[in-house]
Amino acid sequence: MDKKPTQTNYKIALLSEYDDWIFYRATCSCLNPDHSIDMVLEYDFELNIVTLSLNKNLYYCAHFGIYYGDKLYWIKNIWNRIKGAVKLLLTGYIEVSEEFLFTEKKQLDAFIAALQEGRAKLEATHPNN
Ligand SMILES: [Zn+2]
Repeated sequence: MDKKPTQTNYKIALLSEYDDWIFYRATCSCLNPDHSIDMVLEYDFELNIVTLSLNKNLYYCAHFGIYYGDKLYWIKNIWNRIKGAVKLLLTGYIEVSEEFLFTEKKQLDAFIAALQEGRAKLEATHPNN
C-alpha cells in the first residue's frame, strides 16, 4: 500500500465515512494536535443538501499580551485568569479564538479537495439533491 501523501490527504485525514456523513480532520501547519479542525460533511435529508460542520477546540489564553520576561508575568497571568473566570461567571460567556495555519499550498489544496471530494461522494449517494 502506498503511504505517500497525495494532494487530497496532505495534513487532511479521512477518519470515518458512511452513506450520510464523512468525517475529516485537518492538521494545523504547526502540527500541534490541539489545533486541528474536525470537518463533518453530512447529508441533510430534510433540506436535501450537504452540510458542513467545522469544530475546533478553543482555549482561553491568560498570557496573551504579557511579555514572558516581565517580572510580574505570573501575577499578571493569574490576574487575567481571575478576570476571565469572573467574566464567565457573571456573563455566562467568554471570548476565545485560535488560529489554524495553512502555510503550504498543497495543504490548502488538500483541504479544498477533501471538501469537494466529500460533497461529491454524498451527492452521488443521494442523487435527488
Ligand atoms: Zn497550530
